[in-house]
Amino acid sequence: MVVKRSSQSVRRRGGPIRRLRRWHRRLNYESADRPRTQWTMRVDIALVLSGVLAFVLMVLLQASVQRVKNTTTVDYVVEAREETVVLIPVGTADPGSNINTVHIVLKTAWAGWPIRTAIASLDPKVSWALPGLTDVVERTTQPGTPLSDHLELAPQIREALADSSDPDIRRFAEGYRLDVDYLVFSIVTGVTWMILWALCLPVIGLIGIGEGVTGRMGSARRRRLRRQNRCENCGYDLKGLDFTAACPECGELLT
Ligand SMILES: [Zn+2]
Repeated sequence: MVVKRSSQSVRRRGGPIRRLRRWHRRLNYESADRPRTQWTMRVDIALVLSGVLAFVLMVLLQASVQRVKNTTTVDYVVEAREETVVLIPVGTADPGSNINTVHIVLKTAWAGWPIRTAIASLDPKVSWALPGLTDVVERTTQPGTPLSDHLELAPQIREALADSSDPDIRRFAEGYRLDVDYLVFSIVTGVTWMILWALCLPVIGLIGIGEGVTGRMGSARRRRLRRQNRCENCGYDLKGLDFTAACPECGELLT
């Protein structure tokens, strides 16, 4: 009685899991008369595996398939100030007064396949020519290079991008960025999941058929051995052993 009560309290603690299991059983139409089969178990495993695979696949496609959507360029005039340099947007600086310029190419790309699931802000590509700043800057020319912290002017460029009034320029300050459209991503992942799972079903079916065939072959072998008065398990000749309960060779119970 005491044991029963304690097991009940344990079961009550696992309430949500139990409810989930009951719901899952109902979904599979499992009951005492209709137990869980290899088939339903395999379908569940295929469902989980194809879901994980669909998600990983979509993330990988999003990171690898990127088509450039638009390209903008921003130019800055560079001025020396107290042993460092400052980037000033071209429009606001004195026109034609400065030969020291930084050129930045900003690219936005559609990411994902077969339809876009995110918008990627690619690493800005920067180049500069600073002939008038030889005593402040070490590298006075820089061919088009993706913006990284190894570049001498990276902090100033990031600062200038972050200070921009245009939000489409501002978001490039942090470098590569992926803005995922979660609704589209979920839909595409869901459809991929369904397709992958549907592809799994014939495979599960074939496994089931294969099992059925080997099972039938096994029972045919047992019937043949029984006819020959041999042990169904090991084939030991049981001639003259009509009243033995078990096979003397392997211990299989004889019926
Ligand atoms: Zn035997």
